[in-house]
Amino acid sequence: MELIDTGPSEAGWHAIEAALRCTQLYFLTVVKGVGRFPVPEPLARGSMIHVGLAHHYERKRRAALGLDFSNLYAPMDAMIELARRDKYPADLLKLCQEAMVAYFNKYAADDYKKIVEVETPYEIQVAGERYTARVDLHIIDRSGRHWFVDHKSTSQLRSSSLAQRYGHSGQILGLWRIGAEKFGADFGGVRLNLLNVGDKPRFERLAPDPAPGLMQKFDLTVKMGRDRMRVLDRMEWAQVPPVPTELTCETIYGPCSCLGICQYGLFNG
Ligand code: SF4
Repeated sequence: MELIDTGPSEAGWHAIEAALRCTQLYFLTVVKGVGRFPVPEPLARGSMIHVGLAHHYERKRRAALGLDFSNLYAPMDAMIELARRDKYPADLLKLCQEAMVAYFNKYAADDYKKIVEVETPYEIQVAGERYTARVDLHIIDRSGRHWFVDHKSTSQLRSSSLAQRYGHSGQILGLWRIGAEKFGADFGGVRLNLLNVGDKPRFERLAPDPAPGLMQKFDLTVKMGRDRMRVLDRMEWAQVPPVPTELTCETIYGPCSCLGICQYGLFNG
């Protein structure tokens, strides 16, 4: 059976952000592939929700085109398969599946109509180098404008603060950069599909504006990240300095995934 890959794209924001946020975080997670196990609950929840949505919309896309999707997992089965593969707890899986049912009920009659692509990597040149992003959902609205939909599992649903927060997220700026280059004036922007998973799941959809100053300098940000990555790629573990601050080691999503390894010196290269 086919399980859609919803992970980071090959040359995208994920690694750049890690390198800019903390040199040691980049080295551990990207160069050495070391992370915290088990995966923190918010990440596990986001992964399961993401894979459920990906299979829902891809089946819908193929059905609209008359394509066969019998080999593609159904959304609930895809979540079960991911939970089995990545060893996510059964109670968390159940919570995510209940949220998915509530989501389908809410948007059954009013959902994205024209789906172009699902979980597809897009590629452009940024600062003279390849830059990629996996677009969760690419849709076209009634007026023919292209939109990139980004699914987010979140613990908050206060629209104003979330729109502002994601308007300065490098990942979202990167989607804007790609959309604007590929579709020009026909690009509508990025829409957030927010899912609050819990005892009473709630949902919201927003279209945040990118912070203009950050957008203008996006290429410079990518270049700085890439330059730093090249330096780190040549280093040995003992040479890599950490960037320990209360903002990088602790985030609004919880502690850095390498906090335990980093603070107790558990990695020996
Ligand atoms: S815990 Fe802090 S210093 Fe250590 S890798 Fe994470 S962000 Fe860097």
